[in-house]
Amino acid sequence: MSMERLKFYEPHKTEEDAMLAAKQHVEDHIWIEFDGMNCNDYLEDGQVACEGWDGEDHRCMCGNRRVSWEIEKNSDGTFYAVARAY
Ligand SMILES: [Zn+2]
Repeated sequence: MSMERLKFYEPHKTEEDAMLAAKQHVEDHIWIEFDGMNCNDYLEDGQVACEGWDGEDHRCMCGNRRVSWEIEKNSDGTFYAVARAY
């Protein structure tokens, strides 16, 4: 999974704007993928696949990974939010 897909989305001038855009993205998608998502790598037969993270809970859908927002800075000084397992 490329990091480009996980940036929400275009660069923003402030950290607040980056966070708002990320929250909006979640509202539109319900479940989002996150950096470090490996929940479905070892699925057993009949096990429900993890859809990702809802942007609010402390864990992803299946409960396997703890996820939170991080704001990161681009080299041009703009910001983006990324959902990351930690
Ligand atoms: Zn999961």
